[in-house]
Amino acid sequence: MKRGSKNNLSTYCVALQKGGRLSTDELQKRTGYLTFRSGWSNSSLKFLSFEKNILTLRTTSDDETYVVQLRRKQNQLFLTCSCNKTGQQICKHAYCALDTILWKNGQDYFKKLHPSGMMELAFRYPMLFDKQETESGITVTIRPELKSVFYLSPKIKTPDINAIINLPDTGLPSCQELPELDSKFCRLPDGKAIAYMLVIPYRYEHLPSIIPVTGTPTVKDNALKSFDSFQSSLKTISRQFQSPKQGQFHEECFELYRQIERLPGALLEGKLYAKKFESLSPILKLWRSIYPYLLGQPFFYSYILLGPKALRTKPRRNYLQQIFLSAAIPVISFLLSDKGDHFRFSLQVHIDGKQAQNIETGIPLFIKMDDFVFPLGSLRDACLVEWIDRSGGWITIFKEHFSLFEKEVLTPLQTCYTVSFVKQ
Ligand SMILES: [Zn+2]
Repeated sequence: MKRGSKNNLSTYCVALQKGGRLSTDELQKRTGYLTFRSGWSNSSLKFLSFEKNILTLRTTSDDETYVVQLRRKQNQLFLTCSCNKTGQQICKHAYCALDTILWKNGQDYFKKLHPSGMMELAFRYPMLFDKQETESGITVTIRPELKSVFYLSPKIKTPDINAIINLPDTGLPSCQELPELDSKFCRLPDGKAIAYMLVIPYRYEHLPSIIPVTGTPTVKDNALKSFDSFQSSLKTISRQFQSPKQGQFHEECFELYRQIERLPGALLEGKLYAKKFESLSPILKLWRSIYPYLLGQPFFYSYILLGPKALRTKPRRNYLQQIFLSAAIPVISFLLSDKGDHFRFSLQVHIDGKQAQNIETGIPLFIKMDDFVFPLGSLRDACLVEWIDRSGGWITIFKEHFSLFEKEVLTPLQTCYTVSFVKQ
């Protein structure tokens, strides 16, 4: 569609796809250029300015140079070209400029031209963005230290906080009543001992589980100096159960592994219906049953599992760390720091009344601090910790998007959690 304008330039309009995307195929269809005209070469674009949401580029191809302007309004892209071609169809220069931008920068590029979008904020807050001028015009990217940026560029979709708050408050292990510990629990008659591995599948592949592995203790008897393979451990242990209690304990560990194999490790995948979390209840029940026994074990390790094949071999040292389990349940809260032009939303953890420093997230259902692992108190906590972890550690909110953040996140969150505000 061609429209006149006061600058005497022709204005064309290209409807964008859902969410502001545009693919090369759709560009061809929507402009009526179904095949790329032979003899048309790609444009070389030079960024000239970005003002009032109008991106101005100089386009050169076949020794011809024109000025093309792009502006996004809602889900439409308006273009002008200084060639002032008349007619309904978009001119060759504007078409080739769009084609070059899509080819070099991908089909999400025009999302960035949205009002209060990436391009506008990049010019408003130059310190927080990287700008790169190339032959395809200009690209802007968010500085890595902003991590996940709410609305503009979240690393994972903002979860439905109301759905999380409404999850059944099913706890993970509650360890008020510890069973009487049997110090011989992990000892085998041949001098070997059983270590319990908190197996953490890589990148949220599965939820963590516990796998017993046999090995030889050090002289000081405070660690294992060597380990048997996971599989031979299973055989050894099953042959030499020391007590029915231990047998039951190991059976529960194996059942836990069988259960977690069936489910994804990320709690925030898909929609957050309470029904989805019902499938977790056998897993949480098993954790509640085995956790008190685990607390009494002298040889406890975390193990990063790169894939199920790794269970056919011995545990590899690089992925192994001796850790200690704690019965203390961390208290989760949030911090909203005002950084001037943006806010940073982060997690705070208190353990036994003290603010925990250097916490590590990334083990679903748990939090790690130094050599200690703590069970999270509820699925709610676990979902929210996962959100912050998969966001890269914190979430940046530009003031332009704060009211949306307040509505979608803060207000529902504050019905259950403390959010502290600080000015930094
Ligand atoms: Zn033109």
